[in-house]
Amino acid sequence: MNRCYNCGKDMYDCTYLDTAKVAGIKFVGRYPAVTCADAMQEPEPDSEDMCDITIHGRDWARYELCIAKHLVSRRALSAKAAKFVRKAMGLKREELAAIMGVEPLDVSDLEGGITRATPATCFLLHNLVSSKLRSEEEWEALCSEMREFMTKEVPEEDDTTTVDLGIV
Ligand SMILES: [Zn+2]
Repeated sequence: MNRCYNCGKDMYDCTYLDTAKVAGIKFVGRYPAVTCADAMQEPEPDSEDMCDITIHGRDWARYELCIAKHLVSRRALSAKAAKFVRKAMGLKREELAAIMGVEPLDVSDLEGGITRATPATCFLLHNLVSSKLRSEEEWEALCSEMREFMTKEVPEEDDTTTVDLGIV
């Protein structure tokens, strides 16, 4: 069993209650954490010593993704929500733009409230966030599939073109 870096007492598993306000909505969530008995007590005033609750980065990241999933569960997205959703997935503007097949400026406009997300964009973001919550590998595969789709060479076609579909 791990010991507290501060007081040296045994650490044990607990459930951390977290609250956050995003895009005007208050969220409450619980996720696993590790703590020592002293961390549950009020610290002495002016004390340098403080026992803390240790949260795994991945659990905190999941909490943010759960908030993001709620935000994209409707067919509209506020500017603040759009920014939160992108950050919850750990993507830079350029990275999300490449996945969505748009310019980074389009993402900036969305997050700046200059443009509004279409229902189709909301659906796409919902799929991305849901995928990341299910599995990191699945999400990465989906992102790269979308990036490739947005940049692949499409052959020129006109009314003289015949496309042989083979056996369907
Ligand atoms: Zn402690």
